[in-house]
Amino acid sequence: MALPLNDPGLLRQALLIDGQWLPADSGETLEVRNPATGALIAHVPKAGAAETRRAIAAAARALPGWRARLAKERSGILRTLYDLMIAHIDDLALIITSEQGKPLAEAKGEILYAASFMAWYSEEACRINGSVIPANLPGRRIPVQKAPVGVFAAITPWNFPAAMMTRKAAPGWAAGCTGVIKPASQTPLTALALGVLAERAGLPPGVCNILTGSASAIGGELTANPEVRKLSFTGSTEIGAVLLAQCAPTIKRTSMELGGNAPFIVFDDADLETAVSAALIAKYRNSGQSCIGANRFLVQAGIHDAFVARLAEETDKLPVGIGTQPGTAIGPLIDAAAVAKVEEHVADAVAQGARIVAGGERHALGGTFFQPTVLRDVPRQARIFSEETFGPVAPVFRFDTEAEAIAMAN
Ligand code: NAP
Repeated sequence: MALPLNDPGLLRQALLIDGQWLPADSGETLEVRNPATGALIAHVPKAGAAETRRAIAAAARALPGWRARLAKERSGILRTLYDLMIAHIDDLALIITSEQGKPLAEAKGEILYAASFMAWYSEEACRINGSVIPANLPGRRIPVQKAPVGVFAAITPWNFPAAMMTRKAAPGWAAGCTGVIKPASQTPLTALALGVLAERAGLPPGVCNILTGSASAIGGELTANPEVRKLSFTGSTEIGAVLLAQCAPTIKRTSMELGGNAPFIVFDDADLETAVSAALIAKYRNSGQSCIGANRFLVQAGIHDAFVARLAEETDKLPVGIGTQPGTAIGPLIDAAAVAKVEEHVADAVAQGARIVAGGERHALGGTFFQPTVLRDVPRQARIFSEETFGPVAPVFRFDTEAEAIAMAN
């Protein structure tokens, strides 16, 4: 079950509440499995509302002390956390690859990106300046002073388990807020490892609390509890809508990063090779499970056939495999439901007249591996045109004029 980490202390299977590493009250746990192999990696506590209330209370107790620290002190701690993340990049990347599936090189890239939020906000922590606004009456001044909003809650998805946590927590901690973080149940180990490093960096107890467990019970308390003043969520549009409604009675500030359907547009005058290499990154990073990943390829008629041919050729060359194997470009999808959705989108497009020019099926490796796929002649009625696929499928749509491309994109 153990991962071969240089620093085994980074693998935590406990809740972090008020500086204590704890089991769930019920003693129940959730399994964490490697999506590439199905192997059991760890168990994490299945916390519910009671543990969440205690974590929120700990964050509220830690708030006055953390808020009162000098900006320079908060800045220094975040900078130390950045340094620790870089020092432990190999272990953190291995944890991500093991629980999430992305190739190790991508996982390291994610740690660099995740750590960059610590570096950036450690600098911004020292620049939380106020301002003076010209008043609407003579002899008056309007001073603006920035203050931490209070306890924040962060609910993060499984596709970027490190970066989505640090992108939420770093600005909160820099501003003097304390928080409760709930990582996705499929990828909790990355967040817990970052919790270990946050402690080592010197974040006081209660400033960083991390809960694993029942999403609805933890989310219900985080959204209902009046001590929580801000919720930052990244995940599906459906759950985002639920959380917004749950936050309404206590009028919390919210930041919602939800689903999308990004278009990738290629005009006739594009450099073909540049367009194809950019398309490969935009589509297949994290096996297509990226919120900013291109979901639709809109290609102008003059370059259409050449683009499709080159994209299919390069797609066929992408090595699919376990993320820890050197050279792997495409890892598994996160779970069986993700594969089913990809299959449904491909089948629906084909039923409506699309042609498969690369991939199109589950990969011979089995499990949740899916072949990187290119579809052409996809009609606009196909579900893939308007729904997020979140998998390694590139559907190509033809257009003639710029106005048509913009209308399709929007
Ligand atoms: P999800 O089901 O909405 O899950 C996201 C997080 O919400 C997880 O931590 C999940 O916990 C939690 N959650 C689920 N139900 C909840 C509830 N009732 N109350 C409180 N929390 C709840 O989304 P996903 O399928 O994991 O993530 C993929 C989606 O995220 C895609 O649509 C993608 O576009 C979007 N995304 C967007 C961005 C962006 O920046 N815009 C970035 C990444 C992902 P459990 O895991 O325990 O269920």
